[in-house]
Amino acid sequence: MPLLLTIITDPNPVLRKKSRKLDPKKLKTRQIQELCEDMVLTMLKKDGVGLAAPQIGKNIRVITVNTKDGAICMINPEITKRSWLKEWGAEGCLSIPGVFGQVRRHKKVDYSYIDGSGKTIKMSAAGLLARVLQHEIDHLDGILFTDKARDIIRN
Ligand SMILES: [Zn+2]
Repeated sequence: MPLLLTIITDPNPVLRKKSRKLDPKKLKTRQIQELCEDMVLTMLKKDGVGLAAPQIGKNIRVITVNTKDGAICMINPEITKRSWLKEWGAEGCLSIPGVFGQVRRHKKVDYSYIDGSGKTIKMSAAGLLARVLQHEIDHLDGILFTDKARDIIRN
């Protein structure tokens, strides 16, 4: 059974570290599979649209994203191309509860990641998914949305 993980909140040094890539040869381990399942459960239970491993205390390059086709676990995700056009949009973060702000992000991105079976997937995204991917991959580099946001509201 997947576990509900504890989400680390800002300020915490784990949220500010650059996360390391996982060795693609070690991806099929039970540990990574379980981590993905636990992160998906935690993201869904907390009503998040995305979750990055540093938020549950692990500085490794793993994120989960809730898409219209269901929750996806992405290992070593990377943005490979960014649109020139950017747009402002509202963001929040499970690690910064009650805080919201406007962040300017690329409208469209091409991205790649390794899935749970070790396969490399290449896709493009626009709108909310593009925004979530940029937000989550920022977490892997120790960047929080409040570093980039304007019109910040604290509830
Ligand atoms: Zn976040």
